Amino acid sequence: MIEKVLIANRGEIALRILRACRELGTKTVAVHSEADRELKHVLLADESVCIGPAQSRDSYLHTPAIISAAEVTDTVAIHPGYGFLSENADFAERVERSGFIFIGPKPETIRLMGDKVSAIKAMQQSGVPCVPGSDGPLDDNKKRTLELGREIGYPVIIKAAGGGGGRGMRVVHSEATLLNAISLTQAEAAAAFDNATVYMEKYLENPRHIEFQLLADQYGNAIHLGERDCSMQRRHQKVLEEAPAPEITDAQRHEIGERCVEACRSIGYRGAGTFEFLFQDGRFYFIEMNTRVQVEHPVTEMVTGIDIVKEQILVAAGEKLRYRQEDIAMHGHAIECRINAENSETFIPSPGQIREFHAPGGPGIRMETHIYSGYRVPPYYDSMIGKLIAHGENRSAAISRMRNALRETVIEGIDTNIDLQRQLLLDATFQAGGANIHYLEKKLGM
Ligand code: ADP
Repeated sequence: MIEKVLIANRGEIALRILRACRELGTKTVAVHSEADRELKHVLLADESVCIGPAQSRDSYLHTPAIISAAEVTDTVAIHPGYGFLSENADFAERVERSGFIFIGPKPETIRLMGDKVSAIKAMQQSGVPCVPGSDGPLDDNKKRTLELGREIGYPVIIKAAGGGGGRGMRVVHSEATLLNAISLTQAEAAAAFDNATVYMEKYLENPRHIEFQLLADQYGNAIHLGERDCSMQRRHQKVLEEAPAPEITDAQRHEIGERCVEACRSIGYRGAGTFEFLFQDGRFYFIEMNTRVQVEHPVTEMVTGIDIVKEQILVAAGEKLRYRQEDIAMHGHAIECRINAENSETFIPSPGQIREFHAPGGPGIRMETHIYSGYRVPPYYDSMIGKLIAHGENRSAAISRMRNALRETVIEGIDTNIDLQRQLLLDATFQAGGANIHYLEKKLGM
């Protein structure tokens, strides 16, 4: 077993990783910025090291500081969480070259899946359904590009191979603007991602976002844990997620899940990973893979009973997967509401001191948060301060538990989006299930 894990992250996910380590009897090292001395997991960890000033680039994104902290604490493995350096292949490589275990896939796998063009190629080879498109980068052949546009059919979307975080994409509605849109996206991509490569895809107008959770070990064993629906988004940021996805049949789950399993085997994937799809008119279209644990992993944990973070650590330690596909069953329904320190109407971030915090509870309720009464939310990082997860025997039971739990939650001193989540839970379209990715923004009048 791994004796000591350094947690290269902050906030709720750092606490989540710490708890998984504790269950496994693994010691923990918290690394934190100068602004994060009061973080809950820093106070709970066996050891802690301050790795730099508040700005992420000088601390949570500063590889040498993290590696030094691992060296001075005799760390064995490094867990990157999500965001920050979690999908940075160079970081994973530095971790391994320095003699530590990276809790995640091999650096070359992160690189392969981090480039959307190579990721799509790898998926097509494993029979994972992709969006109809250019099947590779667009080149200087304008005639061929215009032909491609006609073959795919408008609207199309131009996407940067190195894009991420909802940036580096442009929708094109007609041939007249295609070539200009391509040059603009190339220029932006070169500036933002240091990679001018772009490709073309059919633009799906009313899709849902459905993603599959995978687990794989170092010996070619892989399983899927079913899917999550993350269609409730604002500005490409997920707001509420659920598992299973409404109206997805066992046959669809089995078929797409198996394709993802096959893809994991063929790329030599290890650890936890997510295949993101757009789903429209009964069909799945792969858009990208996330090679890390995701914010919304708890909804899958609630319906499958599997601790994804613990499995990540066990697999990194060289253990074989403890489950076979036939061991996996879905029980009931789970919903996650992201709790952000931001105003429910203006969405303006609201850092500051939390005067009072009362967590909700009761059957099927799980609160993943690092906040406590007196904790000061720093202004430097993502505004998410926690996640509330409700599990019930079916979707309406989960909704009803979530509504009660939101009503019970008290966070005073800062603004939160709890009111927005409460309204969403009362929304008839949300209650019916299966709304598409534009629904929330439409509801908000955006
Ligand atoms: P990123 O890595 O920036 O998150 P993705 O490829 O995951 O980029 O796409 C982000 C979002 O952009 C998707 O969730 C979806 O809303 C939209 N999008 C991407 N590709 C398409 C497409 N072919 N058709 C319609 N919407 C798309």
